[in-house]
Amino acid sequence: MAIQWFPGHMTRAKRQIQDKLKLIDIAFELLDARVPLSSRNPMIDEILNNKPRLIVLNKSDLADPKATESWMQYFAHEGHECVAVDSSTGTRVGDIPAKAKQILHEKIARQIAKGMNPRAIRALIVGIPNVGKSTLINRLAGRNIAITGDRPGVTKGQQWIRVGGDIELLDTPGILWPKFEDELVGYRLAMTGAIKEQILNVDDIAFFAVRELAGRYWPTISERYDLDAPPKDVEDSDEIVRVMEDIGRRRGCLIGGGRVDLEKTSGIILRDLRAGKLGRITLEAPYDDMPGRKD
Ligand code: GDP
Repeated sequence: MAIQWFPGHMTRAKRQIQDKLKLIDIAFELLDARVPLSSRNPMIDEILNNKPRLIVLNKSDLADPKATESWMQYFAHEGHECVAVDSSTGTRVGDIPAKAKQILHEKIARQIAKGMNPRAIRALIVGIPNVGKSTLINRLAGRNIAITGDRPGVTKGQQWIRVGGDIELLDTPGILWPKFEDELVGYRLAMTGAIKEQILNVDDIAFFAVRELAGRYWPTISERYDLDAPPKDVEDSDEIVRVMEDIGRRRGCLIGGGRVDLEKTSGIILRDLRAGKLGRITLEAPYDDMPGRKD
């Protein structure tokens, strides 16, 4: 279900997170490793207001490992600790408690110096819809927790989940909105499946995907669909449509008169992309808002 974000929702979502911040020691800011910029809330610094933070690049199993490495360096340079995880299998999720402790070590040391018994670190997961908040909570908890109220404006009694490593997690994540007024952001999120197709047209998303991927990930696409020549100019729409038609022909998506069923072809491209069948792809590189990877 895609959330329609109206100004009232945003204000409420922001207030809900700020209420929760009073209860916690650290926020885990969840981003999609394939689109760390587009999956980021535009007001995150203002919302978190200097609360200690760990950036978690989720879905790193689907992202280009080299690009993920540069993103980790980028965030470190910005002064943030960062981990890259795959919440669906749990890969590196175990690093999160250790990192959180590392970030808060001074606070913990001060408590011990005062003769206090340090209590468990309290954490909140924040992120845009579909970035994997519920999956990560379940993974950290090691069991399935019914996560309800996953909508702005819905409040319910929240509980602490003990997740090991002296960490307690709020069971209701903080839901943020993306910078959706930017068309590029909308399409990139749609490519990852974060925005549903009722909002953006399948053909348009697939067109955008082929254009984004044709430049730097051409070898992967051409291998998957057995294509010959790359488009001469990725800015030329006719060239991109030609690639889509070639893919459609290879996949037998034909309608009368030898014409290609573009809608069916688009569905195939997006399914393959989201399932990782086009390889591990990152659409945004740090210091470079151009699509693709930086070598
Ligand atoms: P939420 O809206 O932020 O709570 O997102 P969900 O936890 O519901 O996850 C959205 C989708 O992403 C689900 O289909 C998950 O199975 C999938 N997902 C979450 N984390 C990962 C991950 O690290 N890797 C992969 N491949 N899929 C993931």
